[in-house]
Amino acid sequence: MSELRSYDMLIDGQWRPSASGKYFDAVNPYTGKTWAKIPHGDETDVDSAVKAAHRAFSTGAWSAASASARGVLLRNLGDLIARDAEELARIEVCDNGKLFTEMLGQMRYLPQWFYYYGGLADKIEGTVVPVDKPDHFTYTRLEPAGVVAAITPWNSPLLLAGFKIAPALAAGNTIVLKPSEYTSASALAFGRLFEEAGFPPGVFNVVTGAGADTGQALVSHPKVAKVAFTGGEAGGQSVYQNAAASFKSVVLELGGKSPNIVFEDSNLENAAFGAIAGIFAASGQTCIAGSRLLVQNSIYDEFVSRIVEIAKRAKIGDPMDVDTNVGPVTTSQQFDKILRYIEIAKSEGATCVLGGKQAAGDNLGAGQFIEPTIFTEVTNNMRIAREEVFGPVLSVIRFDTEDEAVAIANDSDYGLAAGIWTENLSRALRVEKALQVGTVWINTYRALSYMMPFGGVKRSGLGRENGLDAIKEFMHAKSVWINTSAKAVNPFQLR
Ligand code: NDP
Repeated sequence: MSELRSYDMLIDGQWRPSASGKYFDAVNPYTGKTWAKIPHGDETDVDSAVKAAHRAFSTGAWSAASASARGVLLRNLGDLIARDAEELARIEVCDNGKLFTEMLGQMRYLPQWFYYYGGLADKIEGTVVPVDKPDHFTYTRLEPAGVVAAITPWNSPLLLAGFKIAPALAAGNTIVLKPSEYTSASALAFGRLFEEAGFPPGVFNVVTGAGADTGQALVSHPKVAKVAFTGGEAGGQSVYQNAAASFKSVVLELGGKSPNIVFEDSNLENAAFGAIAGIFAASGQTCIAGSRLLVQNSIYDEFVSRIVEIAKRAKIGDPMDVDTNVGPVTTSQQFDKILRYIEIAKSEGATCVLGGKQAAGDNLGAGQFIEPTIFTEVTNNMRIAREEVFGPVLSVIRFDTEDEAVAIANDSDYGLAAGIWTENLSRALRVEKALQVGTVWINTYRALSYMMPFGGVKRSGLGRENGLDAIKEFMHAKSVWINTSAKAVNPFQLR
């Protein structure tokens, strides 16, 4: 994008600057240059957006729309995302510096969320309950929660927004989306598609700004009924506390320190590619990064040589170039944090066998690149094995037995995902059952679908996104009792 772009926020179907008139810069991580101006929304803008969403929820065309009609609009939206996939992907690369090939893949896949939940919208049924009280007919009706606050991070901005928006809209809710301040532009470009798809004003609103003020104001707003958040642990904790203060329910998708376990009986070539994909794809800036590689002692040295050889060949460079394998780190804070963790790992006694510093060379733009980095002789008590680095840094840990592998894998504050590499099916199933995580990949890594529930246990989060049940996260069951007898009710007896 050569020209400086300027965006407005979407509130009640209108494009507006922030109430304060303030803007902040969107900086391209590859060039280091400001490429767009984003409005800095504050409490006033949040209030306008939530009130608009609340009006759309409780009155007017959206509240009157049938579930089938909502489904049609969602599917229209899916078609428009598919049409604009390249443009949306380009915007995301300008904002987060991830590979164009990856962002395009995400944008081409995103319509499926809208087709799937659009199709589900009119298949959510209550139940008739054969209740144990004579003379009553009882049923449940599933009702939407109300205004949903969706708060998303910078690493996969629209895909993670889609995880929330598609089921929430299908269920009949309305939305206020607060994207990360580092990646706000794609949410605003996406907002343009709602009118074209036929959504009434106020059903989908975008307020841009920082987490600490704009995000907090959104979570705390009394007319928000439900918060769906993806982000880090500190942000998640703050959101959870603020939501609790006003008794809002939450879905939290947080961080991870996922174990990728390689047994001696695995297909080593496949496992090596899986290990590399688990950590160096997206420069390690993914919650499901397989950042702890657990390798059985008998194959440890051979396996480390294999992954070092593959990682050495990774082409670092311009994220728009389709041949690039590793792009820049998204923010300067993240860049500094990764380098700090590399120093911590060295000081704790881990052996750096690859990388370990800022990348140097041609075609590196403003230079915010970290070399693919591999540490061996990591033990699970080191900080590099316990804390989320969110960068291209792999910790390789030894184990001897299956039980030891499981114990190390589960010895973590997190529980988002895990990988298992073995040709022994019984072992794969035994280990899968023992792992305390939300997703297990066997002989694969980083696979994801709108149909499969996604979320974590322990400090990796609460609730599930994707799959059939995700739509119920945005609904509640109303119980309805009908007295079918002609008799008067005894006023002093619980029925
Ligand atoms: P943050 O938690 O910093 O931010 C996530 C979002 O929350 C941003 O929009 C941010 O705004 C906002 N935010 C931050 N603090 C608050 C607050 N107190 N109240 C309301 N909103 C707030 O995460 P990052 O953007 O740094 O993303 C990286 C993290 O996300 C990693 O820990 C990663 O593991 C996790 N993640 C989890 C995934 C999952 O599905 N489990 C998927 C992808 C990432 P702003 O950016 O403007 O500060």
